[in-house]
Amino acid sequence: MATYTPMIKQYLQVKADYQDAFLFFRLGDFYEMFFDDALKASQELEITLTSREGGGEERIPMCGVPYHSAPNYIEQLINKGYKVAICEQTEDPKTAKGVVKREVVQLITPGTVMEGRGLLEKENNFIATVSVFPGDTYGFACSDLSTGESRATIVNGSVEELINELSISGAKEVVIESSLSPEVQKKLKERSILALSIEDNTDLNESFSELFADLENEQLKNTASRLFNYLYRTQKRSLDHLQKVSVYKVQQYMKIDYFSKRNLELTETIRSTAKKGTLLWLLDETMTAMGGRMLKQWINRPLIDKAEIGRRQELVQLFVGQFFERQELREKLREVYDLERLAGRVAFGNLNPRDLMQLKRSLLQVPSLKHILESLSHEEAALMADRLDPCEEAADLLEQAIVDNPPLSVKEGNIIRDGYNHQLDQYRDASRNGKTWIAMLERDEREKTGIRSLKVGYNRVFGYYIEVTKANLHLLQEGQYERKQTLSNAERFITPELKEKEDLILAAEEKSVELEYQLFTGIRETIKEYIPRLQGLARALSELDVLLGFAELSEQRQYVKPVFSAERKVVLKDGRHPVVEKVMNAQEYVPNDCYMDNEREVLLITGPNMSGKSTYMRQVALTAIMAQIGCFVPATEAVMPIFDQVFTRIGAADDLVSGQSTFMVEMLEAKNAITNATKDSLILFDEIGRGTSTYDGMALAQAMIEYIHDKISAKTLFSTHYHEMTSLENELQKLKNVHVSAVEQNGKVVFLHKIREGAADKSYGIHVAQLAELPADLIERAAEILHILEQTDTPVPLGSESQKSLDSVRETLQNEQDKQSMLQAAETAAASQLSFFDEEPEQKKASGASKKEKQVLDQLNGLEILDMTPLQAMNMLYDLQKKLRK
Ligand code: ADP
Repeated sequence: MATYTPMIKQYLQVKADYQDAFLFFRLGDFYEMFFDDALKASQELEITLTSREGGGEERIPMCGVPYHSAPNYIEQLINKGYKVAICEQTEDPKTAKGVVKREVVQLITPGTVMEGRGLLEKENNFIATVSVFPGDTYGFACSDLSTGESRATIVNGSVEELINELSISGAKEVVIESSLSPEVQKKLKERSILALSIEDNTDLNESFSELFADLENEQLKNTASRLFNYLYRTQKRSLDHLQKVSVYKVQQYMKIDYFSKRNLELTETIRSTAKKGTLLWLLDETMTAMGGRMLKQWINRPLIDKAEIGRRQELVQLFVGQFFERQELREKLREVYDLERLAGRVAFGNLNPRDLMQLKRSLLQVPSLKHILESLSHEEAALMADRLDPCEEAADLLEQAIVDNPPLSVKEGNIIRDGYNHQLDQYRDASRNGKTWIAMLERDEREKTGIRSLKVGYNRVFGYYIEVTKANLHLLQEGQYERKQTLSNAERFITPELKEKEDLILAAEEKSVELEYQLFTGIRETIKEYIPRLQGLARALSELDVLLGFAELSEQRQYVKPVFSAERKVVLKDGRHPVVEKVMNAQEYVPNDCYMDNEREVLLITGPNMSGKSTYMRQVALTAIMAQIGCFVPATEAVMPIFDQVFTRIGAADDLVSGQSTFMVEMLEAKNAITNATKDSLILFDEIGRGTSTYDGMALAQAMIEYIHDKISAKTLFSTHYHEMTSLENELQKLKNVHVSAVEQNGKVVFLHKIREGAADKSYGIHVAQLAELPADLIERAAEILHILEQTDTPVPLGSESQKSLDSVRETLQNEQDKQSMLQAAETAAASQLSFFDEEPEQKKASGASKKEKQVLDQLNGLEILDMTPLQAMNMLYDLQKKLRK
């Protein structure tokens, strides 16, 4: 260290405090990085790595990005989960003695981005914190620095519950204390968290006390303090836009765990994290970014308070009935910018003149929005109108002060309107008059000298000048102008009057730009006072926006207002899956009824694959969620209980990423539902027990149904391919069979996607296999095998190796339709054709399996059945059979 130059020493000192961040060290017009930072950044950002002398023995690796394009590079690093410390010169290099002072002015992290594409319009950017309290209790808090919104809650139960809260917030960065247990840290990292950051300071800062007014629990207060301390420590500036922390209870909302959310594709699809194809995508008719964010929050947290849901419903109903007013309101909202984030930028200090213009335009919409709402003469609409605070003085100020199309830069003038400030007007007059005088000068001098090509020009270095070409120089009198600059074919001159005017113009311009900047910051300070009011307005506007969107959608798609039943009744007439209906042609979608009550708690749904079982189940869940966020629902009549929780176990193929065996995940999710569900919950179990062997799976599935039926009485939709289970209807009083019907047309099966009472008609199985266009002799042959299997409860008389392989066959054929089709084929096959276990095999058994058979059996034995699709399994069977028959 001793031999390094003073600047490198300074760098190393600063860097010592920011080990986990890239240090952007300001040198002139560049941010430079050194040592390891330079090596890593040059790779990540694909920029040139160089080196420089630094006084040490070796040259120091270095790379840099120009100051003006830094935001782009910072964003790239942040999106990869890195942090960037911005180190600026904090004294004027002209007056500095020795090395210019430098300090870190901001630490930018994934959870604290305030600008750029990293900040998606319709997405919150939460940063969260968690703490472990004694006794299986956890603290959770999160803030969105860009909007100033914060929430906190106490989570009881397991780490999973905590992680569930975290997942709902979508936070990319989590602030933890350094002593947080490694297991919890590991679990956090598994959930698409970009960055874990350490903050151990939980001291309550006096300035938060108002923001923390609702936080009664001391431990939770500490948790929130840790988050706020981190924000202040990293941002190093006024965060006056941070709003009061709202404390909520997890039980205030319908509970949907992370997996169920994913399964139901509420805000992202299972396959990708895209929005398209999700419930959010369907429902998002919002006109503003704020509304888009609020809608997402609503979907993530459906209500359970009937009165609150009713309030939303009433406004939706009102807007559905008022087409013209609704369109007018929506048109006005289109002109409203992101007030929440604008308020954030006011406080944060990165507000630009264009932001002020956006603020102005937004505020100017409020009086007409209010007016339209009031004209509806409706109590709820009037209440909403009251909440729309037009912030008149702020609007007036902006209207008077800010021009219609201001530039982005605060340092180039053209921000403030004429007439707003007398002094500014004077400077502008002076500059304008000077310019007019100069324009006249050219005409006058041409006349005086008779040189028609004489012109007056301006450049940055020499200022204003009179230019005469060499050919015309002889027309000038000796000493008429002062010589200023010689070009190859012209001379440039000035005159004392020209110089005087120039000074006047430049001084006036400089002063006016400076004054405009002062006026701008003054206005910004005034607007700062309005931050809480702007945030209140933003909330009301977002709500209005979402509700208008619900109304728009409900009318377009002919949704009805759901009625809530205290008797835990479900009546859905002509219900539809809202997203599938939108994606496919509305005419093609087959609506379905759903009826459940205290006598019909469990619906056992049978039907071939691809007939629509899963769609039907999801449609019921999505309808419940839509109802509980206040939206109308896709049906012609809807009665619903208010569900406290929704559990789903859908599809086995989606768990590949989680690293756990699919069957384990299946059981964990089933356990979660079974241990937490109440009689007010909704459970969807799709094909449970598929992940293990047939009898195992069937036994588990049946036991689960019995348990739910007898002990929980939650409303349950249970789809199964185990046809055997339909007989449960005889034993379980509150269980009813329903099935998805199909018809035969021209010898082929056509799914009607229509749900009917009773168990599925078995005879369609064979057609399903035919639909897949499997070779006819294969189907027949496989059916023979299955037939035997079905008959054989005692071990099939084969060697133990063979028994194992038979089990594999059994698993391969576990799919209901395969089994059905083969059974059918077996029944029609002539008994004499059953050759597999006839005398010949008996003989073989005595002498042991032939070499050929052994090969086949080994191959069978080695199959990973669970990794195969039914079609692959079929193909494999076909191959095996071919080998045997050769
Ligand atoms: P299953 O769960 O029985 O295997 P799915 O619910 O996945 O079947 O449905 C299979 C396909 O059938 C869906 O992708 C959808 O396109 C179509 N489908 C399902 N229900 C309907 C319906 N009610 N009307 C029209 N098409 C439907």
